[in-house]
Amino acid sequence: MSRNMSGARFRAEFRDFAWYRRNVPCMEACPVHTDSGKYVQLIANEEDSAAYLVARSANPLASICGRICAAPCEDACRRNWIDGAVTIRPLKRFVTEQFGVESSSPETFRSLLEGAKDPGCSRLGHLPQLAALQNVGRGKRVAVIGSGPAGLGCAHDLSLMGYSVTVFESQQQAGGMLRYGIPEFRLPRGVIEREVASIEQLGATFRFGTPLTHTYNLRSLRNEGFEAVFLAVGAMRGRELDIPGHDIDGVVKAVDYLLNLNHGYRTELGDKVVVIGGGSVALDAARSVVRDFYEPMEEIQLTAEAAANQPALDAARGALRGGASEVHVVSLESMEELPAARTVQGMEELREAGNEGIQFHPSWGPKKILGEGRVTGVDLVACTQVFDEHGRFNPAFDESKTFHLDADSIILAIGQQPDLTFLSDDDGIELTNVGTLKINPETLATTAPGIFAGGDAAFGPRIAIEGVANGKLAARSIHEYLSGEKNGISFEVEIHKIANDDYSMLPGYEKRNRIPPPATDTGRRTGITEVEEILGEEQARDQAGRCLLCHVDTIYDPLKCVLCGRCADICPENCLIFVPMDDVDMPEDQQIAALERYHHDESLPMTVLLKDDTKCIRCGLCARRCPTEAMTMERFSIAEKSS
Ligand SMILES: Cc1cc2nc3c(=O)[nH]c(=O)nc-3n(C[C@H](O)[C@H](O)[C@H](O)COP(=O)(O)OP(=O)(O)OC[C@H]3O[C@@H](n4cnc5c(N)ncnc54)[C@H](O)[C@@H]3O)c2cc1C
Ligand code: SF4
Ligand code: SF4
Repeated sequence: MSRNMSGARFRAEFRDFAWYRRNVPCMEACPVHTDSGKYVQLIANEEDSAAYLVARSANPLASICGRICAAPCEDACRRNWIDGAVTIRPLKRFVTEQFGVESSSPETFRSLLEGAKDPGCSRLGHLPQLAALQNVGRGKRVAVIGSGPAGLGCAHDLSLMGYSVTVFESQQQAGGMLRYGIPEFRLPRGVIEREVASIEQLGATFRFGTPLTHTYNLRSLRNEGFEAVFLAVGAMRGRELDIPGHDIDGVVKAVDYLLNLNHGYRTELGDKVVVIGGGSVALDAARSVVRDFYEPMEEIQLTAEAAANQPALDAARGALRGGASEVHVVSLESMEELPAARTVQGMEELREAGNEGIQFHPSWGPKKILGEGRVTGVDLVACTQVFDEHGRFNPAFDESKTFHLDADSIILAIGQQPDLTFLSDDDGIELTNVGTLKINPETLATTAPGIFAGGDAAFGPRIAIEGVANGKLAARSIHEYLSGEKNGISFEVEIHKIANDDYSMLPGYEKRNRIPPPATDTGRRTGITEVEEILGEEQARDQAGRCLLCHVDTIYDPLKCVLCGRCADICPENCLIFVPMDDVDMPEDQQIAALERYHHDESLPMTVLLKDDTKCIRCGLCARRCPTEAMTMERFSIAEKSS
């Protein structure tokens, strides 16, 4: 329902199947449809192993995602509309630490392959549904190119289906940008290694140091007997900045800097570093540079122990950095427009970057990089607009406002693109006008038969879980291609009424604030020390208890309603309102259906109950107050099936 108070008219729609799907926003926002709300609710009930199964059922990289997922579920979380999203992502880590690959019970997920069901909503590609397909692949050979999230997601599902999967990886280790982009202080490498080992145990083989090239190419794979290929080569080439001075020594691309760092090589950057770009890659580069300046851990700890208070500790940190060390981030976007500022996780990363002393210069664009032989600084010009009225990237500048930053190095974090030089015209694979692989978004098929593509190589730089989702979709499409079976998708909604006496929310749930997970003290953030800490049990239960149980909703039966209005009176959020049908705007077909359903005589006035579901906190007071059981609390679950 949406209210238009000035005109006293109301826009409304009936609940249909699509509405039920939208009504668990965390699940719908997750690209692999993790039933996040369900695992959060299970954690609140102290059912941690069941919660883990829900998280792992959907996601072959659950332990990695518990640490670094960009968490679109949190951006969509209903509680975000009220006072701050549920800490869905850190709660996942809370259970993977107990039952995931990094725990002492890493085989917990196997029960889902042996007939057990997880208690979450059942979707295609979740483990119980994949388990039913074990061995359909009959050992047919599939090549996966690239071992980032997309390649790993595909290798996981195809291996489970009984395909013989070989992953070709140009680097010496698996993980793609998880390993060579994301810094270790956010994602410990042991977690990546264990996730990869778990996929190997399902049957996938990895060939490291084996890039697809112009000579060892798709034709070579076909000759070796591979019947289908999934291209998941990522977008690992940093974009150029076409301004004077871009080729002076000391200008490096963020992805190259991070790649070197993650290979264990140190890049000499000097004392003052300017990072150009406003996305998560810029933040990771800047935060890594800050750590480059630090002295070894022991010295910081000694100084920290000597320091009695925070200002002294900050001074000590500054001194250890040599005093002059500065890291600046320059972005075209204003602070509010920064991509990071548009997501819950991004905001928390921005805050940590600020805590680490990184200085932001929003709404400035680079005009000229200065230096004779080696960078000495950068001239900036004020940026007045990043996107035009059509939402297209089209920056505008005010040349009268300029600014200069001294710099020993400049790091460019202005986007990435795929390196597809291994393709030749004979392959028949078309590219888009932005240089990504052209695919059918429904199947991820490229323009060449048997060749599929996904992840950043097909969609440009995005987030890890989108890559995993592409890998899983590609696995399904490859199975359909190789088996000749083409299945449709059907959905079912199951609804169970909850007796009023059995329905309750946790005491004080509506007053609890979002508390992000604890972080290592800034003075101790050296080298690869992990910044984010695991939620303690008490905090995990408290935060999980903030979930608004979107799987439960009020169901209203107008035939039982006596129009007493008690539900609307008691609702603490003012979600409910009785209005004349004449004041309601709804799609005509729905209006006709409503009149027919309730056999309404059109010559008489009709009253309807409208509900603003965005504000409902599922307290259940309306159902308790209703004298005729016209309002009830009902739990629904969604099952997606191949049909
Ligand atoms: C610095 C940085 C930080 C990020 N932080 C986050 C974050 O916090 N959360 C989040 O969700 N996402 C984050 N992302 C985005 C996320 O990492 C990517 O969206 C994701 O890794 C893309 O997955 P992919 O499988 O498509 O490609 P990639 O992860 O890029 O993997 C591609 C793989 O293909 C291999 N390859 C390339 N060419 C060839 C070839 N010719 N032959 C064989 N192998 C080849 C590469 O070596 C690589 O291993 C970040 C990205 C970067 C760069
Ligand atoms: S309130 Fe709970 S179920 Fe609803 S979107 Fe947030 S986490 Fe999911
Ligand atoms: S469950 Fe609570 S918040 Fe939701 S409509 Fe009923 S009384 Fe209002």
